[in-house]
Amino acid sequence: PQRPYIVGNWKMNGTRAQLAEARAIDRGAARHSGVRVAIAPPFTLISTMVEAVQELTVGGQDCHSQVSGAFTGDISAMMLKDAGAGFAIVGHSERRAMHGENDAMVQDKARAALDAGLEVIVCVGETEAQRDAGKAEQVVGEQVEASMPVGEGFVPRLTLAYEPVWAIGTGRVAAPADVAAMHAVLRAKLVALYGDEGSNVRILYGGSVNAGNAAELLATPEVGGALVGGASLTADSFLAIVAAA
Ligand code: 13P
Repeated sequence: PQRPYIVGNWKMNGTRAQLAEARAIDRGAARHSGVRVAIAPPFTLISTMVEAVQELTVGGQDCHSQVSGAFTGDISAMMLKDAGAGFAIVGHSERRAMHGENDAMVQDKARAALDAGLEVIVCVGETEAQRDAGKAEQVVGEQVEASMPVGEGFVPRLTLAYEPVWAIGTGRVAAPADVAAMHAVLRAKLVALYGDEGSNVRILYGGSVNAGNAAELLATPEVGGALVGGASLTADSFLAIVAAA
């Protein structure tokens, strides 16, 4: 139905020297018009990357919930929009774990991104302990209910990303059967939150996606794309994922 969406999250990686990599990714994306390709570089590279590329959507890795004010070190969604970004990622597990972000804060950030005219990618995912305790679906379902912004006209600009924490940066990818089971739960939650429109919200998988496992993951039911960390940093590895989509 929808074309696959492959998003690179560069995390705290990249200086102007890596703009050449972004240009190469951009040229590759142009050869795969059936796939939507995006990169979220560090804030410092957003505006220069926007000017350097044509096919790629460029986004931010976080945003503040307020438009402006005395929030040293923070960046607002309005500022991302002003820099040329098309979307913001919110609620990444690294933000939740290292910056104390809870579901309510993530929901406020998501709403701020939408208010600024951005698309938003809301991230959820269980820890290894939660999965081992048999609580993964419950925990992630609760995150979705409390983190996703609900409002008139929001759905077309929403993406949900399922990233099991234990699969991020570890090389341990979730089993396709487990991804299918989780994404079915997430789809049901989205329909409960948004009604029929909830069927249209794309659900990405993230966590150690690479060229070798991308095709199988992307063929899994209800997987509408991938959120890619390490393998998005070079054109070779990222475009191999795009080609598999
Ligand atoms: P890796 O692809 O490096 O596991 O990172 C996944 C991720 O956190 C993307 O947001």
